[in-house]
Amino acid sequence: MNTQTEALFFETLSGQEVRCLLCPHYCVISDTQWGICGVRQNRSGVLLSNVFGKISAVRLDPVEKKPLYHFFPGSKILSFGSFGCNLACIFCQNSSISQIAGSKIKNFETFTPEQAVALCFSEEESIGIAFTYNEPTVWFEFMLKTATLAKEKGLFTAMITNGFINRKPLEQLIPVIDAFNVDLKSFDAEFYRTNTSSVINPVLKNLNYLAENKKHIEITNLVIPDLNDEEMKFEEMTRWIAENTGKETPFHISKYFPNYKLTKPPTSELKLLRLRDIAKKYLDFVYLGNSTSNSGQNTYCSACGSILIERKGYQIWYRNIDNQNLCTHCGHQLKLFR
Ligand code: SF4
Repeated sequence: MNTQTEALFFETLSGQEVRCLLCPHYCVISDTQWGICGVRQNRSGVLLSNVFGKISAVRLDPVEKKPLYHFFPGSKILSFGSFGCNLACIFCQNSSISQIAGSKIKNFETFTPEQAVALCFSEEESIGIAFTYNEPTVWFEFMLKTATLAKEKGLFTAMITNGFINRKPLEQLIPVIDAFNVDLKSFDAEFYRTNTSSVINPVLKNLNYLAENKKHIEITNLVIPDLNDEEMKFEEMTRWIAENTGKETPFHISKYFPNYKLTKPPTSELKLLRLRDIAKKYLDFVYLGNSTSNSGQNTYCSACGSILIERKGYQIWYRNIDNQNLCTHCGHQLKLFR
């Protein structure tokens, strides 16, 4: 199968240069060269995606692993990953597939969008398809075609993303992606510049845009000791989320472990609990990821505090909630896909 296809969103400049318009880097790429993401190449004045259907991993994952906690809790979703990333986070948790030059990719399977959707139907438990593991923006062409086909066939779709994408491509995803988990890495512009080689503003604007379009949004923040765990900044971030995407936005505080170029020790449990208390001042649903906390994964009624969904690992149990998602203690309704 040919895994090269003409890219969407580029313009031709003089002298066979092209400018990629897919993400806010706007890479200007000379003939034979690659963009920052490592998977889009200029060939004689045409920008190519080099990873169309080039799949690094495909697994039937619990939706909670994405993480998505208010989107069909307890169900499974067929998850595809490819290669490349438009960010270069020094703490990347998936660097073997994200921080790789397109010319060096060796181990992969190939899928057409039709094969991806057919595989999803052969997995009886799957509610649909997730684009995940590495940044799906940089394999936009495959994601768009596959998601479009999946929606035509009545499947659900999810994108797990850093949110660093231009408005026009994002507009095309709005009708075909049901749920987004956006990794908001910090609320500090300098952190984004220094530790991710990107900028924060497009990510915030895209969160606003997803909220305006009433998409299901969950937000994840990986807490790294000394780098982005300053409590006033964290509080500013959670207040911003409440004001911009709504206080019902599920917010996942995730524990960092050393990875890629960063060797700092893992985030302490105490710090996670302190940050959870801060986030709870503004947000109704705050979860702890990679944590040993017993209650950090449960969903509680935002009105009366009753437990509504109990989680242990990737197992879930509905408690005190009826089929209409009403709390059986106080009648408050939980916004939930089910
Ligand atoms: S998607 Fe890749 S090539 Fe295009 S602008 Fe972003 S980093 Fe550059």
